[in-house]
Amino acid sequence: MKEISCKLLVIGAGPGGYVCAIRAGQLGVDTVIVEAGKPGGTCLNVGCIPSKALIHAAEEFEKVSHMAGGKSPLGISVAAPTLDLGKTVAWKDGIVSRLNSGVAGLLKKAGVKTVHGWATFRDGKTVAVETETGVQVIRAEAIVIATGSAPVELPFLPFGGPVISSTEALALSEVPKKLAVVGGGYIGLELGMAFAKMGTAVTVVEALPRVLAQYDAELTRPVVKRLAQLGVEVMLGAKAKGVKGDALLVETADGKSAKIAADKILVTVGRKPVTEGWGLDQIDLDMAGKFIRIDDHCRTSMRGIFAIGDVSGEPMLAHRAMAQGEMVAEIVAGHKRSWDKRSIPAVCFTDPELVTAGLSPEEAKALGGEIKIGLFPFAANGRAMTKMGEDGFVRVVARADNHLVLGIQAVGQGVSELSAAFGLALEMGARLEDIAGTIHAHPTQGEGFQEAALKALGHALHI
Ligand code: FAD
Repeated sequence: MKEISCKLLVIGAGPGGYVCAIRAGQLGVDTVIVEAGKPGGTCLNVGCIPSKALIHAAEEFEKVSHMAGGKSPLGISVAAPTLDLGKTVAWKDGIVSRLNSGVAGLLKKAGVKTVHGWATFRDGKTVAVETETGVQVIRAEAIVIATGSAPVELPFLPFGGPVISSTEALALSEVPKKLAVVGGGYIGLELGMAFAKMGTAVTVVEALPRVLAQYDAELTRPVVKRLAQLGVEVMLGAKAKGVKGDALLVETADGKSAKIAADKILVTVGRKPVTEGWGLDQIDLDMAGKFIRIDDHCRTSMRGIFAIGDVSGEPMLAHRAMAQGEMVAEIVAGHKRSWDKRSIPAVCFTDPELVTAGLSPEEAKALGGEIKIGLFPFAANGRAMTKMGEDGFVRVVARADNHLVLGIQAVGQGVSELSAAFGLALEMGARLEDIAGTIHAHPTQGEGFQEAALKALGHALHI
């Protein structure tokens, strides 16, 4: 048995863990990171990056399909395209593997030692790692738990055979003819819409009365419209009950039994933090439900132990994990850091895309004071028209008394790229006048942001 010591030990090399280790290494902290799988975690290997690659390929395929037979209003005509999903997946795997090497290289460059294997706590300062060559014991002054999350499995729809999670959906070699998606949240709809664009007949089964229920109905309306255009059948208030042969068994909203023929059943009913298998019982951490309880500096209830990323609570997003990782590294290096989660944007890569940052109109109203809302539709935005992306809008929510911006939302083609501007506005404590007075380049969809602020001030120029 080998034994090493370090100042900081990070468990898990997902976006939270690897960013934490890189920043700590840059600051001269003697750092070790342990990873059982590949560098980059869920996000890089089976989450953000591969899903966006697949979504992009599906979009391209759909675009070209629309040009076949001279039907495109753009005047472009092509022969009917074909899709080789095996090749698409190989292209996606190439991107993932380049980024895997990139993360490994960045860790090395920062002087971080990487240990490959599964880590288990022995006590609050010691971890044992099962490596290929035996057990490696690591003692550390500070430990960061960044073990991430895994798909939730339904007991009556266990993964295996036709029942798959997002991980398997990202590695299919053939486009399914019929796909049932259980769960109409962001992962289910992102993937469901991508497969619909590739020619799959998709049915979404959602127990709640709306898809994307965490967003308000005004924001999700363009997505619901697009689902219908793509021919995706959405069963609301319906409960998946099990699988029989090649069919998903469902109880419909009116209590009837239905069978949905499907060659694949994609279960996307949420993700659960990974809190088992690494010796949580060996250390005495307070929990907040299924997550590890943390304070604003990601400290757990045990001195010297931090938790970051999906294992530490919502929102389970890669950029939150990264921001926490960077902060914790600086704290361990002796810096003073503060944490303000108000400006964490969230993007849903459906078609059209959704972006939210800060408070929704309902959340802002719940604060009690008067608010102003400005909404600018992309139907009045020249750039959106040239991209055939007129469906959607930017909405700005601000305090009525001092015009402090409390929240910004957008739905529309490519609006994910506006998330940086939204986050910056909130981070810098922008007032409506700051956004309205910023000269935005023309023609861009960003002008919609400026116009929404102008609208809230009562003098939008283009509507
Ligand atoms: P993870 O990325 O889950 O990494 C944890 C790592 O720890 C894993 O590599 C695991 O192998 C390792 N590990 C766990 N336990 C041990 C142990 N005991 N010993 C050694 N290693 C261990 N988020 C976004 O922000 N944008 C998106 O567009 C987006 N799209 C997504 C699409 C899909 C299909 C999915 C599934 C997720 C998506 N997410 C997205 C969520 C995002 O992937 C997660 O929020 C993010 O990966 C969390 O990072 P993390 O560092 O907390 O954990």
